[in-house]
Amino acid sequence: MLFAGGPCSRTSVSTVSSRGCASCSRSLALGCAYDLGGARYCLRCAARHRPLLRRSARTALVVGTILVAINQGTVLAAGDFPAALLWKIPLTYLVPFCVASWGALGAARR
Ligand SMILES: [Zn+2]
Repeated sequence: MLFAGGPCSRTSVSTVSSRGCASCSRSLALGCAYDLGGARYCLRCAARHRPLLRRSARTALVVGTILVAINQGTVLAAGDFPAALLWKIPLTYLVPFCVASWGALGAARR
């Protein structure tokens, strides 16, 4: 049965891992734990795991740069910088960051 806190909230946990989160010691339900770097974390701590964030940032830098070149390359090469690029370019980097982070968290979920 799911409660307001979602399937990983403490009130809905019927099966709890014997180990808690390596960072905050929160109890971890099966399917709500994330194995990263040999330790087990809750979602909140896993989403702030520095090695995961660094890897996602590197992915965003490479993929975002390629996407900016593809999508805005001709505009930038012409020497123009329309105001719309002030939000389009950061979003172009944010999307691969989110995808890489989401993928890593999905792969680490236990
Ligand atoms: Zn935690």
